[in-house]
Order: sequence, then C-alpha cells, then structure tokens
Amino acid sequence: MIPEIETKSTAEIKTFQEAKLKIALNYLSENSPFYQRHFEQHQITVAKIQTLEDLTEIPVTTKDDIQQFNDDFICVPKSKIIDYVTTSGTLGDPVTFALTDADLERLAYNEAISFACAGVTSSDVLQLMTTIDRRFMAGLAYFLGVRKLGAGIIRVGAGIPELQWDSIIKFKPTYLIVVPSFLLKLIKYAEQHDIDLNASGIKGAICIGESFRNDDFTLNTLGEKITEHWQIDLFSTYASTEMSTAFTECEAQQGGHLHPELIIAELLDDYDQPVKDGEIGELTITTLGIEAMPLLRFKTGDMMKAHNQPCSCGRTTLRLGPIAGRKKQMIKYKGTTLYPPAMQNILNNFNALECFVIEISHNAIGTDEILIRIASDSPSDELLNQIKDHFRAKLRVTPKIEWSDKEVIDALRFPKLSRKPILVIDKRK
Ligand SMILES: [Zn+2]
Repeated sequence: MIPEIETKSTAEIKTFQEAKLKIALNYLSENSPFYQRHFEQHQITVAKIQTLEDLTEIPVTTKDDIQQFNDDFICVPKSKIIDYVTTSGTLGDPVTFALTDADLERLAYNEAISFACAGVTSSDVLQLMTTIDRRFMAGLAYFLGVRKLGAGIIRVGAGIPELQWDSIIKFKPTYLIVVPSFLLKLIKYAEQHDIDLNASGIKGAICIGESFRNDDFTLNTLGEKITEHWQIDLFSTYASTEMSTAFTECEAQQGGHLHPELIIAELLDDYDQPVKDGEIGELTITTLGIEAMPLLRFKTGDMMKAHNQPCSCGRTTLRLGPIAGRKKQMIKYKGTTLYPPAMQNILNNFNALECFVIEISHNAIGTDEILIRIASDSPSDELLNQIKDHFRAKLRVTPKIEWSDKEVIDALRFPKLSRKPILVIDKRK
C-alpha cells in the first residue's frame, strides 16, 4: 500500500506539492485569523507564492505565535470541532489543537500509510503501549490508523509490564507501539518470569519519543541493548501534534519517509534560509489538507538532516534522519556543539546506572554549563571515571557528573502533570 505519488520523480512530487500548497494558502487567507493578519503585516500576496522556493518569502510561524494567538489559528466554528488535544507550550500553559471530522480522517490515513510503510498489514495485530486519552493525539492517531488499515489493536496503554506480557501471551500481537526504553523493562520482566522473548511472536516495534539510531542509521546504545536480547525490527517514527503527520521508517530503516500529500518539509538555518544538502537544520513544516488548525512554515524546534536519494523500498520521497536534538537545547560547551540525546546515548551504555538527569545552566560569565546527576545501587569512583572517559572518547568533552539519590532524580524527572519523564532540565534564560 504505497500511495502512487510516493514513487514518482522528485520533479513530479514538487509539482504535486505546489498545487497542494496553493490550495492551502488560499484556505488560510480565507479562514485563518492569524494568517490573514500575518499576510497583511508582512505584505504577502498569496497568489504570488507559486513554488516551494517562494515559501521563503513568508516569515515563519513559531511555537510562541501559537501559544500567544492560539484561538486565531482555528479556521472552523466550534460546532465543527470533534476532538480537542493539548501539547506543551513554550510559556507554560498548554496549547490547544482542535480537529474536525475531516482532520481525524486525515490522521487515520496518515497513520495507516505510516504503518504500511513499516511493513504492517491488515493481518497484523498491534499492541498499543501509549496513552490514548489525557488529551494526547498520538494514541488516538494509532488507533484510527490501525482501524483504517484493517489490522487489529490491543489498547493496553503505558506502563505495567505484567499486563503487557499478559496481553502479548493472550492475544499474540505481532507489533508493539512503544517508547523504546520501555522495551528494556519488558525484557527485564520476561527474564525474571521465564518468558521466552524470541518465542513471543513479536516481529517488530513501532518506536516513538526516543531515538535508537545514530546519525548513520546504525543502532545506538539503546537500540543495541534492545536487540541483543530481543530479535525484533525497530522502526522509528517521528511525529508531533503540530504536524499531525508522521515520518515513519520503511523496511530499509534509513530515515522516516515524508508523505507528500500531507506535509511540506524544509530544513532551515538560524536565518530561516534552507540549509545545504546534508547539513543539519531546523525542521520547518507546512501542513496540507488540515481543516481546523493548518500551519504554514511552522518551526518545530527539532534539528535533523534530510536524505534525498531514492530508497530501496521504491519510495522516492524525502527521508528525515534521527533528531540530533532540540534547537533550544543546543549546548555550546568548551568549543563543542552538543545536544542532550548524544549524552543520553553515552549514559545508556552503563547498566549500573539506575537513572540520570541532565541539567543545563548558564554560569557567571554566561556560557553553558552541564551537570549530569546519576544514581546507582553501587556508586564508585571507578564507575564515575569510566563514564567520564567514555564522554571524553565519544564527545571530546566531559561535563560535570555527580552521584545523587534515586529519589532526588526521580523527583526531577517526573514533575506533576507531566505525561512523559523529563531527561533534560534547561535552566538557561
Ligand atoms: Zn524506504
């Protein structure tokens, strides 16, 4: 089930997207109070935006814009809104996203072709290990996508390894939808309870929220730790509420594929200009076909590389590499540019570590400082030195690392109302 457009030439995909872009621009100028003002303030005549290159003439939309003018982004009357979703905002309060019936249908289509991209078919059964409620879009999207694909789904939700295994044994799912580090908990539980992981019938995991690949698509520490115990295929999927679109890996596992009928992607530098081929840039997206809250040139804050070569799966669409990090969490440390995921990858190497949290702050002279708090059942100077050596070898710098109590770290990692654990605390102003 590959949509026809996904195997066309680059030029055909571009023409296709430019036609969709025109429709999107007209829709925004007729229905979006925010973009009507945006076009007027910046003297943009939408009829003059003809090509994807012309997009650079329109100033970008930021997370702050959505937070500040949340209601002005909604293009439909309240009576047309079916589902309300929230996502964390930049200024503290959550940002609301509204979806109409057509938007839910688009979400279902998006997720169905994404699952199909990873090789899931209508005869598969998927076990959902994420939250479906709590004003969360992803869980609902997975459910709708599985339904559209005609596959089966078991909605277990997050956590509770015992219940997860009970479901795996009882219903024999073939794929898991899961935050990859949770697979380590499932592995641990299986080993403690004499469950044969590789006889479980699970073929693969659709992984969200954490990166398990290096820049060259090989498995990172987390990915290796999982697959050395459990021989399953790991598929990365990158998505967000704002995009309402997923970039999911195919069987070649060389980055998440873009679906040209759903989204336009640009990678921009600090001056909102496209980066050169192969360079890391900030993913900036324009949604296509959304009714309630379409976005134009929205800066996601995620830094990554794009890959343009045709894929061995037959698709010719752009692929996005693993997220190097959040733009806001970029750290300049002793002359090196670092992102927290690279540090997490190093810490994940050490099984003796129970948990950790990374704190970033400014020192007295205004440059970045990093403090990593770690906890272990058996803390020792030797282990601490091993960790520091590993940092030096992999990242060329060693941040400040300190032993801490597990309770202290857990309190930092799980603040009230947070739906996912926090691994990075950024105290910089
Ligand atoms: Zn592919």
